[in-house]
Amino acid sequence: MVDLQGQYQSLKEQVNTSITQILESSTYINGPHVHAFQKELEEYLGVKHVIPCANGTDALQIAMMGLGLQPGDEVITADFTFAATVEVIGLLQLTPVLVDVELDTFNIDPIAIEKAITPKTKAIVPVHLFGQCANMDVILEIAKKHNLYVIEDNAQAIGADYKFKDGSKQKAGTIGHVGSTSFFPSKNLGCYGDGGAIFTNDDALAHTLRGIVNHGMYERYHHDVVGVNSRLDSIQAAVLSAKLPNLNAYCESRRTAARKYSKAFQGQENIIIPVTVNNCDGICDECDCHVFHQYTLRITNGKRDALVKHLNEKDIPCGVYYPIPLHKQKAYVDERYLEENFTITNQLVKEVISLPMHTELDDEQISYITNAVIGFVNE
Ligand SMILES: *Cc1c(COP(=O)(O)O)cnc(C)c1O
Repeated sequence: MVDLQGQYQSLKEQVNTSITQILESSTYINGPHVHAFQKELEEYLGVKHVIPCANGTDALQIAMMGLGLQPGDEVITADFTFAATVEVIGLLQLTPVLVDVELDTFNIDPIAIEKAITPKTKAIVPVHLFGQCANMDVILEIAKKHNLYVIEDNAQAIGADYKFKDGSKQKAGTIGHVGSTSFFPSKNLGCYGDGGAIFTNDDALAHTLRGIVNHGMYERYHHDVVGVNSRLDSIQAAVLSAKLPNLNAYCESRRTAARKYSKAFQGQENIIIPVTVNNCDGICDECDCHVFHQYTLRITNGKRDALVKHLNEKDIPCGVYYPIPLHKQKAYVDERYLEENFTITNQLVKEVISLPMHTELDDEQISYITNAVIGFVNE
């Protein structure tokens, strides 16, 4: 599904030199490399504050702690996402409110958000799934109208642009009150272990978040708030600094692969290719509105599971993200959830299949994969 060697080989000298430097200077945690990466990422994203932390799950949790959300507060998020999003809501004893997504983009449905709002609702967590932003124009409007926080789970869309209705653009993760991301190795900007970060333009919130990631300390051994231990280590920061200047090129490689896939699948019966929206037409050439963390098809003739088996037999990697909607996961079932409110996620879990997607895919691999899919689905 992913090829992590290609990027390493092309950055080997730089990465190895930085890691050796760190080993010899013994600045393993919070060293100058972490600070340098933080500044570089702030500049890349055009955001005032980046707060590095240990992983993308922590980033979400710390963002919610920083906003002062209290047990019992309701937090609305998508039913169709990785469990980390809802897990941290539960851990903080907030009340997760899962809602349905849109059929074409796989992203949280603003109409479903609005229907789920109660007097206890405090925040919306849009997940920019598979590399494309949720409908932030409408989500920001809803949040403003109901006085809610917007926390962007940007683990899958770092580097993506969001194009607003008025044509202006902003980087994914920097649009809401606070955003989070993950540097897990297979993410679009991946390190060689775990890593994550929180983004905000709010100075006071940034200050709070910097304390929370470090045991609630603003001054050594003065613990002003309850914090956690969640730090990015210097070695991961050095890897990320080497990769960040290439992130736009990595996104472009993924988009190129996606275009080739889509060209091959276009017009095929029973196969629905991913759409890019966000006020852009087609796979927009003017902005990075979709960075294809995953390239996900919908197979509409009931052959998805058989296709997975077929591809496995041909040694073509593929994935089903996600096979079970969160509202049906044992840990998150709730009697308030009505099946009739989850028609789209219930459909998507049966139809979606993600194909290999990374920065090293070549034409031969793509045609081998597309031929295998088309041949099987429409045989
Ligand atoms: C990967 C991911 C996370 C969690 O990131 P980790 O660094 O693995 O903790 C959270 N949300 C989404 C949508 C993800 O894809």
